[in-house]
Amino acid sequence: ATEGRQLHIFMFPFMAHGHMIPIVNMAKLFASRGIKITIVTTPLNSISISRSLHNDSNSLDIHLLILKFPSAEVGLPPDCENVDSLPTMDLLPIFYQAINLLQPSLEEALHQNRPHCLVADMFFPWTNDVADRIGIPRLIFHGTGSFSLCASEFVRLHQPYKHVSSDTEHFLIPYLPGDIKLTKMQLPIILRENVENEYSKFITKVKESESYCYGVVVNSFYELEAEYVDCYRNVLGRKAWPIGPLSLWNNETEQISQRGTGSTIDEHECLKWLDLQKPNSVVYICFGSLAKFNSAQLKEIAIGVEASGKKFIWVVRKGKGEEEEDEQNWLPKGYEQRMEGRGLIIRGWAPQVLILDHLAVGGFVTHCGWNSTLEGVVAGLPMVTWPVAAEQFYNEKLLTEVLKIGVGVGVQKWAPGVGDFIKSEVVEKAIKRIMEEEGEEMRNRAIEFAKKAERAIEKDGSSYLNLDALIEELKSLAF
Ligand code: UDP
Repeated sequence: ATEGRQLHIFMFPFMAHGHMIPIVNMAKLFASRGIKITIVTTPLNSISISRSLHNDSNSLDIHLLILKFPSAEVGLPPDCENVDSLPTMDLLPIFYQAINLLQPSLEEALHQNRPHCLVADMFFPWTNDVADRIGIPRLIFHGTGSFSLCASEFVRLHQPYKHVSSDTEHFLIPYLPGDIKLTKMQLPIILRENVENEYSKFITKVKESESYCYGVVVNSFYELEAEYVDCYRNVLGRKAWPIGPLSLWNNETEQISQRGTGSTIDEHECLKWLDLQKPNSVVYICFGSLAKFNSAQLKEIAIGVEASGKKFIWVVRKGKGEEEEDEQNWLPKGYEQRMEGRGLIIRGWAPQVLILDHLAVGGFVTHCGWNSTLEGVVAGLPMVTWPVAAEQFYNEKLLTEVLKIGVGVGVQKWAPGVGDFIKSEVVEKAIKRIMEEEGEEMRNRAIEFAKKAERAIEKDGSSYLNLDALIEELKSLAF
């Protein structure tokens, strides 16, 4: 009988590392409370997911359900099952078409397994209807925090950008605590240009599905964004459970982040090098799993980092068509020889969480993807903010204006993949600001948030209690 009363949750992450990593951590978290979890994914993505589950597979009740990804049906190359593996971002709308085709197989799997709840990514708005037909609640996972959930919703609903006379004039985000301002150029292209096409209709569906889903699980913790969690609940009137930081729940050092392609650097080499450095002396520079700068921008970063005089670890992911031979074009002459002992350049994938948590690391240059933002907070680091796309401009505002633990490089334009052009002097100055005196104050504030994050997940901490409450609510619906 107890078997029959075990809660079973289906989790369906979007196929991007920034979404799969936290969902796998969430799966481990729920499973550690005795809940059965089935993670739904596609063949290629299942490889990295099972690798990251490897150590827990015996102790936790987590299963993988693999759905064939219909790449061929929509004309995608066969190995494109992850946003990260798309040759160009122009293929994104086709990628979503492929995802939509997963609907019948997901529905079939739900019928067969009869779970009690479906936690599905924001990018699968159709899962609301599927869950309705099965008669179970659908929770949304956005992969972002409460501040940006509120901000983007208020911008969408009230369209304050319609009242400015130019793309660069600031407008106030209505109803959002903190008097936060943005410009039209910092909004997603779809909003800015007011286009209506298949893709924009899809994004509208994504947003609308939020207002009729059961609620949202948020990878954040109450103390970090209290006003915005309250705002989401009370002003927008929706259910939200901040249960993070999810990266903290995962004691394992082995994260999903060690992908098939692996890192170009030996993880131990990198940590050994950090062991030799003084506390807070190294700046870590990484722009997430998707942003790819062109050669000209990379060169500016290289010059700026060198001029800052700081030690560094820099993760480089280059734009398409920029092969290894191009190296001369983006690295100043003799750069790596000069930087020997002063910095590491990682071409590919870095063990980010381990690096950020190392005592030698004293600052983080980030694109403000939510996972990176939160990982920086958890590590108690001041950050240089360099948003590129998605909701990163909102996250930048949270870091620089609300939490006051970030210094912006002044990006003006939302531009997926390539970003805005930032000069080396700006990079140099921003790095100095977080790594020298001014950084101290920001670091102290960041450390306070890091402590609060730790407390949030302890027994009777806010995230712990939110998770309890969510589990109880799901049980009351299920049994
Ligand atoms: N990440 C990593 N190594 C890298 C780049 C990224 O481990 O070289 C991880 C990072 O720790 C974070 C995730 O990938 O958990 C990136 O998510 P985020 O939301 O920051 O940005 P996105 O990649 O979605 O733009």
